[in-house]
Amino acid sequence: MNIRPQHGHFINAEYVDPAKGNYLDSINPDDQSVVTQIAAGSVEDVDAAVTSAAAAQPAWGDMRPLERGKILARIGRALEERIQEFAAVESAEMGVPPLAAAAAMTTASNYFQYYGGLAASLQGEYIPVGPEQHSYTVHEPYGVVGVITPWNAPLNQACRSTAPALAAGNAVIHKPSEYTSATALMFAEMAAEAGLPEGVLNVVTGVGPEVGEALVRHEGVGKVAFTGSLRAGREIGKIAAEKVMPVTLEMGGKSPDIIFEDADLQAALPGALFAFIANSGQVCLAGTRLLVQRSIAEKFSQMMAAAAAKVPVGRDKPFPNLGPIANEMQFNKVLDYFEIAEKEGAKLLTGGRRAEGEGLENGFYVEPTVYVDVSNEMRIAREEVFGPVGVIIPFDTEEDAVAIANDSPYGLAAGLWTRDVSRAHRVAGRLQAGQIYVNYYIEGGVEHPLGGYKQSGIGREKGLMALREYTQTKNIILKL
Ligand code: NAD
Repeated sequence: MNIRPQHGHFINAEYVDPAKGNYLDSINPDDQSVVTQIAAGSVEDVDAAVTSAAAAQPAWGDMRPLERGKILARIGRALEERIQEFAAVESAEMGVPPLAAAAAMTTASNYFQYYGGLAASLQGEYIPVGPEQHSYTVHEPYGVVGVITPWNAPLNQACRSTAPALAAGNAVIHKPSEYTSATALMFAEMAAEAGLPEGVLNVVTGVGPEVGEALVRHEGVGKVAFTGSLRAGREIGKIAAEKVMPVTLEMGGKSPDIIFEDADLQAALPGALFAFIANSGQVCLAGTRLLVQRSIAEKFSQMMAAAAAKVPVGRDKPFPNLGPIANEMQFNKVLDYFEIAEKEGAKLLTGGRRAEGEGLENGFYVEPTVYVDVSNEMRIAREEVFGPVGVIIPFDTEEDAVAIANDSPYGLAAGLWTRDVSRAHRVAGRLQAGQIYVNYYIEGGVEHPLGGYKQSGIGREKGLMALREYTQTKNIILKL
């Protein structure tokens, strides 16, 4: 694997040492070896990044959008040529199996190619108010945008926010997760080599409450796009409220996946399994609450448990396999939820423990897990576990299914499986979630707008809509 042993911050197109001189180890969750070291940033480092971004932004924002977009598309293509190299690093830092890591790199590349193409589409409007006035709108960048991302799909999520922010003419300071910062740093370096002007994309690394919070608090930062937990999102939201600064918050979920008795079970079984085990369950959109119509619940539960038990566990096992949980903190959290589920009286059908076997000894591996006899009030049904854990809750009628599905503090995604097209539209219309899947689950395409209802978030990422989220609208009125 081609990786530096130690990474500084990437500011003004070069690596710089952290002001306090401290570094953090990045640990491989497959065997607990040290992958690299990243800078433990501080307020001083954030200051330096803001100075660099603020100096670079005016020229970037003034560049003809078509030309700006061409640079972004070029960066996307540069990543496409280095997918295996980036995928190997992400797989080492985060534990994601190599095939899935490569697919995530393709998506990351797609964000830059997609938003590169859209950069010139940010047109304003003419507002008809009669012959006495000429009124129109323009969509202007905020200036410096802070992007804060988690560890579960590191470069994918970084590019999801960074590409539209840059396309709209902002300069960006990215703060990746302290667990998985290497690909973000490599990406910023590659972007500079591909022609992105210096200072337009900076990466500062370190822990959230120190460097992340300093970024959100900084007066030079005009907007923050955050992806991560509800806990951190709330903290960021409070600071943003004090500053009166716009934020996009993309947070967690406990998404329902409804299987009606008329569903094609040949498709629903692998689809619903994938929905909660993909990326070892470390997916914000994961369909972890399986609501199954009572007439098929017993049979479906047995089939699901048998299918889950067959999934190969081990980062380098044959596809479709499960990698480790991405870090020790999260691993312990998943193990805690196994205990919580048992205490609450959920019945374990398969899994529920650390995975053991050859090659797994030093990794943060857990078994794919299925619980039945779960009520929607239990913590295992209400809280985000972020591991390969599905709970099965029976329901009787379509109304019951919708009521249970919506009885959640979250509202990020939902799935439903049925052959009845009228029911599909009817139920999709009533589910309180930002993205609904009918007869499949989890959509990675960059064109689909994504964001939370309720406590899953504020604002939208992805798709055409997200581009506007990185601009503020100015109305100009001339008296004629
Ligand atoms: P986290 O909230 O702990 O950390 C996310 C990022 O925020 C990290 O970079 C972290 O350093 C930083 N951070 C933490 N505390 C901060 C603070 N007080 N101020 C500023 N920054 C701070 O989340 P995580 O554990 O890394 O990621 C898992 C969570 O992310 C899950 O809840 C998951 O559902 C969510 N997620 C959501 C989406 C989405 O699109 N909605 C996508 C992926 C992950």
